[in-house]
Amino acid sequence: MELFQTYPLLWILLAALVGLLIGSFVNLLVWRLPQMMQNDWADEVLRFQGQEPPARDMFNLFLPRSHCPSCKTSLGASELVPVLSFLWLKARCRHCQARVSWRYPLVELAVAAWWAWSAAQGGVSTSALAWAGFGTVLLALAFIDADTMLLPDVLTQPLIWSGLILSALGLTGLSLSDSLWGAVAGYLSLWLVHAVFKMITGKQGMGEGDFKLLAALGAWLGWMALPVLLLIASLLGVMVALFMRWRGSLQAGEPLPFGPYLVFAGLLCAMADLHSGLIYF
Ligand SMILES: [Zn+2]
Repeated sequence: MELFQTYPLLWILLAALVGLLIGSFVNLLVWRLPQMMQNDWADEVLRFQGQEPPARDMFNLFLPRSHCPSCKTSLGASELVPVLSFLWLKARCRHCQARVSWRYPLVELAVAAWWAWSAAQGGVSTSALAWAGFGTVLLALAFIDADTMLLPDVLTQPLIWSGLILSALGLTGLSLSDSLWGAVAGYLSLWLVHAVFKMITGKQGMGEGDFKLLAALGAWLGWMALPVLLLIASLLGVMVALFMRWRGSLQAGEPLPFGPYLVFAGLLCAMADLHSGLIYF
């Protein structure tokens, strides 16, 4: 540890490398978690109807082993190196030449950058690790929401609790009461928007996952951050929606996930030195 205190750059580099590996896991999570949830729901519906769910091959975060989605060949160690494998194999599967999405290395790099930033800001500390974890879960949520319009409870709920607990332990730089009111205000503000929208239009404008995600952001960033955060997320969402309408890739009335914008704004607020109070009000 002393070594890292003497050479902070070494610490940042280590964080970036760990971030790359974690990013690789985030790719797995983004791909598999929604499928696991959908399998569970399908089984649940059948059981509710009094039927036995069909036998299914084991499917969880660890099984089956990572494989090419096109040819199903299991990937070897040399094909699982974050970013480098992608570059080395020129974005193609070694076995069937199917294209590999550029999103995989992008997610790995984004998580690595976030880990490096946390290490640079927090130094050798528990709170640096906490912020690294915060960003990692948020990035996973953003991509899952973008893909499937889901914000899984197994990710949003622990993020709320961990924000509150870490604030109580003095690791987020927030008082417990700022953190607690952040969670409450985060949840209620979007719930209110949702309730009013539903009353006026009779339509579902937002999912419950969004309320929990903003509650988590409130728990980690404090209630003070919420007005700016919501403003950034909404403006960004509106801009992207207008751009997509203009390009013709979004139909009128077609829903857009709000999670990615909340995540982007949340990360931005975390970066803008959350506790200086400069950017709020
Ligand atoms: Zn293949």
